This record gives sequence, structure tokens and C-alpha cells, in this order.
Amino acid sequence: DQLISQIAAGEVVERPSAVVKELLENALDAGSTQITVRLEEGGVKRIAITDNGRGIAPEELPLALARHATSKIASLNDLENVGTLGFRGEALASIASVAAVRITSRTPNAAHAFEIVGSHEGTVAPSSGAFGTTIDVQDLYFNTPARRKFLKSEQTEYGHCAEIVRRIALSRPDVSFSLTHNGRTIDHWNVSEAAKRSAQILGNDFAEARLELEEGAGPLRLYGYVGLPTASKARADGQFFYVNGRYVRDKLLVHAVRAAYQDVLHGDRFPSYVLSLDLDPALVDVNVHPSKIEVRFRDSRAVHQFVFHAVQRTLAQTSA
Ligand code: ADP
Ligand code: MG
Repeated sequence: DQLISQIAAGEVVERPSAVVKELLENALDAGSTQITVRLEEGGVKRIAITDNGRGIAPEELPLALARHATSKIASLNDLENVGTLGFRGEALASIASVAAVRITSRTPNAAHAFEIVGSHEGTVAPSSGAFGTTIDVQDLYFNTPARRKFLKSEQTEYGHCAEIVRRIALSRPDVSFSLTHNGRTIDHWNVSEAAKRSAQILGNDFAEARLELEEGAGPLRLYGYVGLPTASKARADGQFFYVNGRYVRDKLLVHAVRAAYQDVLHGDRFPSYVLSLDLDPALVDVNVHPSKIEVRFRDSRAVHQFVFHAVQRTLAQTSA
């Protein structure tokens, strides 16, 4: 059983940044507005994420660490319309099988916090702490040395973690984030507007040369910012696309945006953008297998055309 969970964990938590992603998604699913990410040694030594969300009741703490226990969907029907980032109930159990995990949490009506250490078999004990949850993950892969060998340098692993934080922070300007590495604060973003958050994360040159995009309504809506070529000469990593709030890297969507840029601006440089597509969840299948970020649209032609035309129309304002 331990072995099986370690194998499964290998898929969920490929590397420290995958842990960061799962913990951040849980914090957001809990309605947090303030999230702190503390990393040590690229996340391998420690990943501790503190949020101010609704917390986990003491009797639920063992469930949080149990495999296939999720509080987020009650039936298979809910799967079609899942509104939370997580729903498999797999992440924490997997993480706990390859690292030392401690969860400390306090719900709004509890007199104090409680904690659980290790696994779902751990005992729940009173603790201290503010409202919300801290999940502290230490010594990743301590018991699976083969996997540990696949990790890259501390700086590389840190870079992947920071990229996950950036991605998520870009899509949630309504939440404050702070990121520290080895005790040093690297980033801190207060709650703000999408315009300001994207300027903070993508830089002032993006903020100074970008167009706001807002197209569609109801079942199909695209919004965000498209950078102009001068805005992003220095960034190869400034393209962000979200589908129903989830970061994706999807060929069809990237192609649609790129084609629109080429159509209007003719260059082959590829500027920064931050775009969010919201559509009826029944019309898209987001494969949220932890290591994948794929989407399948029921009508991919229609989505491609919609995105292409929306970006094209927006960019055309510059040549008008
Ligand atoms: P999933 O997110 O797919 O439900 P996880 O293994 O990521 O599964 O988390 C298991 C459960 O633990 C969640 O369903 C949720 O009830 C609880 N949980 C995890 N993290 C938090 C958090 N930061 N705040 C509140 N509840 C949490
Ligand atoms: Mg989760």
C-alpha cells in the first residue's frame, strides 16, 4: 500500500513546483484572500503555504490526508460542472507519502487550531495558529531517493516553483500572495486590480504597451491584455492563457493568438499576453491530471475562431 501510494505520488508530485501548485489550488478552493508561500532549498527542504481560508475542522483533518477523499464534489454529476480547482482528493495523500507533512488549521468557529502530522493515521492534536490553514511539507522524496536524484539544482527547482506562483497570482489579483525563499522575501503582491497585478508580474514595459481585450458574453467570453511587440522584447515567457480560471498551455489556443498577431502585425515576434477564456464547463474537458494542463473543447473550431477574431479585432485598433 505504501509502495502503491509512492508510485501514484510520482505522478502527482513530479517535483517541488507540483506540490506548490496543489497547495496553492487548495488554498484558493478554500476561499483564501491571503496566501504566503515559504520555500527552502528550492522547495526540496521545505514548502510551507499559509492561507486565511475557511480551514479544516479537526474531525476532517485525517480525511484531508486520506486518498480519494475530497470535500469538493459529492457525486459524479458534479464532475461536469466542477467549480473548484481540485476534486480528486489525491494531492495531499500523495504528498504525504513522499514527504513529512504537517497540517495546522483553524476554522472560524474553533477556539484554537488543530494539527495532524504524517498521514491520515496521525493523531489530531490541539495547536496554535490563526484562522486558516498551514500545510508544511518537508524533505520531499526523503523516502524515494531514486526520485530525488531526478531533481535539478536548487535554483532550477526554485525557478519552477516561482513560475507556478506567478501563474496563479496573475489570474487572481483579488488575492494577496507573498513568496519567500530561504528566508528572503522575493515577491509580495497585495490585493489589486488585474491591470496592476499583471504590470507587477510582467513588468512595466508590458504595462506601457498593451491593449485591453474584452470580447463575448455569456457562454463564451475572452478578456485580459495583449501586449504590443515593443512591450515584451525581453520576455520569452510572458504568454499566459487561462481557461475557466485554470492556467493552460494549449496548442489550439496558442495558435489562435499567434495567428491573430501575425495577421495584424505581420512580425514573427511573439509578445506577452494574459488572456482568460471563460466558457460553459460542459463545453470543455480540462484534463487536470496534476502534471498535465490540457484542454479539449467540444467545438474546437468555434473556440479557435472566437479567440482569433477577438485578438485580431483588439490588435487592429493599433493600425486604425
Ligand atoms: P482535492 O483538492 O482534490 O479535494 P486534496 O488532496 O488536494 O484533494 O485535498 C483534500 C481535502 O483537504 C480537500 O478536499 C479539502 O477539503 C481539504 N483541504 C486541503 N487543503 C486545504 C486548505 N488549504 N484549506 C481548507 N481545506 C483544505
Ligand atoms: Mg487539491
